[in-house]
Amino acid sequence: RPALVWLRDDLRLDDNPALAAAQASGRPLLLAFLLDEESPGLRPLGGAARWWLSHSLKALAATIEAKGGRLLLRRGMALDALTRLAGDVNAQAVYWNRRYGAAEIAVDTAVKSALTAAGVAVESFGGNLLHEPWTVATQSGGPFRVFTPFYRRARMQAPRTPSQTRLPWRFAPYPEGERLENWALEPSRPDWAGGLRETWTPGEEGARDALTRFLDGGITGYADERDRPDRTSTSRLSPHLRFGEIAPHRILAAVRHAEAGASAAPRDVEKFVSELYWREFSYHLLFHYPDIGTANFNDRFDAFAWQNAPALLRAWRRGMTGYPIVDAGMRQLWQTGWMHNRVRMVAASFLIKHCLTDWRQGEAWFWDTLVDADAANNPASWQWVAGSGADAAPYFRIFNPVAQGEKFDPDGDYVRRYVPELTALPSNVVHRPWEATPDVLRRAGVRLGETYPRPIVDHAAARDRALERFQPIRGD
Ligand code: FAD
Repeated sequence: RPALVWLRDDLRLDDNPALAAAQASGRPLLLAFLLDEESPGLRPLGGAARWWLSHSLKALAATIEAKGGRLLLRRGMALDALTRLAGDVNAQAVYWNRRYGAAEIAVDTAVKSALTAAGVAVESFGGNLLHEPWTVATQSGGPFRVFTPFYRRARMQAPRTPSQTRLPWRFAPYPEGERLENWALEPSRPDWAGGLRETWTPGEEGARDALTRFLDGGITGYADERDRPDRTSTSRLSPHLRFGEIAPHRILAAVRHAEAGASAAPRDVEKFVSELYWREFSYHLLFHYPDIGTANFNDRFDAFAWQNAPALLRAWRRGMTGYPIVDAGMRQLWQTGWMHNRVRMVAASFLIKHCLTDWRQGEAWFWDTLVDADAANNPASWQWVAGSGADAAPYFRIFNPVAQGEKFDPDGDYVRRYVPELTALPSNVVHRPWEATPDVLRRAGVRLGETYPRPIVDHAAARDRALERFQPIRGD
């Protein structure tokens, strides 16, 4: 009787606790992925994430085939499909790594009950977080709402050390499965995924390469440079982490190793590790406050008078706001499925505070277009920017998109890369083309309102308006 491993957000063989336990059972392995678009409450994947999933599964299947096995694909509501599969193959036990969203937990709980009732053992593991969310608690045993004390507490608990897979591999016979091509996870007409293909290598090997590249270069100066979108100074591991192609334990161990060998400076390592813990914190929030994606964490925001402004939302999505740093970010997102963190903050703040658009509208667009779209990090970050979050930047802190651009993209290289119509503008006006003289604009071939938009809202006026709307809900 085989050991069935149900792979979900852990598309890797390396350092995979569920897989390691299945191997340790000594039984032949059956590795399965289930496309579940039917269980109630599961949020459908966005377009960019579907593209990533398709490639990640292809890569995983190839890795498993190279070891003599096959990745079994099935589709359907997990409760039916998984119990049927376990019955079909006469599984002795089912192994999985846990998920942390409320709907996912409900699915897993129901599947576990059904399997147990059918006499199939179930074993679940913590695979994708350094700390299971319930293991980090305040003195009174409750959840944290603020990052710094969470971080301080979490770091007192050592995460597990990465595990190695065992040799030799032994696989069970492969039952009938589906073909990935039939799942239509990738776009066909129009095929908008060209930029994604050029930018990314989904899969475990791609994840390992991204980590190696980061350790070979990016981590040096990370603490100072991570806010610079014009440099390649961050790891770009986020989509790999999202799909569990690499575990944070492996990343943490690698950066600590680099630090011990003096190839990474302690200051850079500390900053990077704290970012990994922001991800932990988002999952802590998702687990303890499961409607973080739909409800304001701070319910005073329920009374906020959001504006319904479809034209502004459209301009923001297309990268046509007239603010170059925002537009560069939104176009980077559209072309590559990723946006630099600093620019995510500026672009999100612009939509919420300059356009007075409900953060959920922006969150939904990011969900559809980010390859790293993450059920914890995305809503937690949007609420953080909105000021409605658990550990929020205050609502009245309103980013000035020109000042942000000039500070973090001082020469305008990032803007020029993604907003080619501004390429010939000199650096002193590249973040505020409307202040360039007619002569400078003419020489740069920029016709405001024609080749590039004028600002869709005026910063100073938008700022005053946002602060005024915020007054009634301040509550202090
Ligand atoms: P690095 O700087 O190399 O950091 C390493 C890892 O730490 C990241 O891969 C990520 O897992 C984690 N991390 C880094 N910064 C943050 C952060 N601020 N919050 C939480 N985790 C962090 N991140 C997502 O993974 N998915 C999302 O859907 C997502 N949506 C966001 C939406 C908004 C509005 C904002 C402001 C931020 C969002 N982030 C999201 C957080 C952050 O922007 C990305 O994790 C980061 O840009 C990924 O790039 P990197 O892997 O090069 O990061």
